[in-house]
Amino acid sequence: MRSLVLIGHGSHLNGESAGAVFRYAELLRERGLYDEVIEGYWKEEPALRQVLRTTASTDVTVIPMFISEGYFTETVIPRELGLGHQGPVPPEGVARVLGGRTVRYTLPFGVHPGMTDVILARAREALPDASPEDTALIVLGHGTTRNENSHKVIYSNADRLRESGLFSEVHALFLDEDPRVGTWPDRVRAPRVVVVPFFASEGWHTLETIPEDMGLQGEVTRFPDNPHGPQTVYYARPVGTHPAVADVVLHLAEEARGAAGRDGDVERAHDSAWQALIHLARRGGRMGEVLITPHSGVYELRHALDEGMGGAELHTVVTPEGLRDVTRRDAAGNHRPVHTYRTLPRGWRAVLSETELRRGVHFLYPAVVEESYAHGCHSLRHTPWATTARRQTGIYTRVQRATQEQVERVARTVCTPCLRTRLWAGEKLPRTFLEGVPGAFPCAEACTYFVAEVRETLISKRPAAGQ
Ligand code: SF4
Repeated sequence: MRSLVLIGHGSHLNGESAGAVFRYAELLRERGLYDEVIEGYWKEEPALRQVLRTTASTDVTVIPMFISEGYFTETVIPRELGLGHQGPVPPEGVARVLGGRTVRYTLPFGVHPGMTDVILARAREALPDASPEDTALIVLGHGTTRNENSHKVIYSNADRLRESGLFSEVHALFLDEDPRVGTWPDRVRAPRVVVVPFFASEGWHTLETIPEDMGLQGEVTRFPDNPHGPQTVYYARPVGTHPAVADVVLHLAEEARGAAGRDGDVERAHDSAWQALIHLARRGGRMGEVLITPHSGVYELRHALDEGMGGAELHTVVTPEGLRDVTRRDAAGNHRPVHTYRTLPRGWRAVLSETELRRGVHFLYPAVVEESYAHGCHSLRHTPWATTARRQTGIYTRVQRATQEQVERVARTVCTPCLRTRLWAGEKLPRTFLEGVPGAFPCAEACTYFVAEVRETLISKRPAAGQ
């Protein structure tokens, strides 16, 4: 048995931020090469601290879904996963045995040499008859003076594409460092120019900053009076959203497994946790705000407040992904980065098989089954606030200065709408939903949303609830 974990950044504010990682996970699931493909996030759930616990096998390969190496891939992700590694990741990745699982952590997909083909595929979409006689290629990166590694990948791709001889010129240009993208008319001579943004997703930079800096007005822009004569620019979509990235991810994962030999086994604690959930589901019962009802071989999930409503009155979904999509926002359409907030929307029902139930519940309440079961077995370790705060780096270092009183004030605002009980703050949870208390979920460690709110409070000195 083998598990593949894709790690994305996610967002506390923007529900679309995790979309690209969702889509790659779905593409990779369809390929069927791994027994499971799950996602983990820095700012959504399952969080990086929880995600390994949610894997079903003892053989886990973790791929950072980032376009280049940097702070997240070298500092935040290894630290939060507990890999005991900081700094540049070697080409062969980092392998550790953690809690009985063999975990292999790789370089981000963006630095894999296979991305050269993805750049080429994007260039051909924008200009199918690109030719070495009259077409220049610009590989466009973000660049930053803070991290040398972020431009290395742009230069190495540009070198490989230059060697291919498919273009008359190949240039590496950047938004935030020299050579800057705005200087392209002086550098590029060919009459036709394809621009491929080496970015992870469509966003502010690809939709606004790059077109503005280059003077583009859409997918094709003509420049009749450039220094080297008339030129036409063909603007491609970013590489990070191309379906071929799924192939790059699989190559990366297989290279990391290398000569691993046999697959892993079923992870026993994980399996026991889900057996406990299936036991509850077969009887029918509540989990948080959700009612689970067995119906001749399938299970129906709905908001507990919709109990008794006819099926025709509710929007029916029949896949775990469908359940994920109807519950990602609250009734007002707001993003729910903390899934255990009592803001589950009403008006839907999910009909799932027993196999799908596991993935559906994982999307609905990530890591809750595993953590609740572990809590019942007294094996869920709690991380006190002081330890969580000490671990923070970068802009979050500041939270180490928060007083106990400030932390408690934030908790009154942030944690009150949450179903979880703050074990990390010394609160007691005698029984969980698995032992018959529907709304009882453990919280072993302050979530990243909480950490971000403590930081906001310190910066703005804004009053929290109760002031
Ligand atoms: Fe919920 Fe608070 Fe725990 Fe975050 S820290 S998961 S808001 S109880």
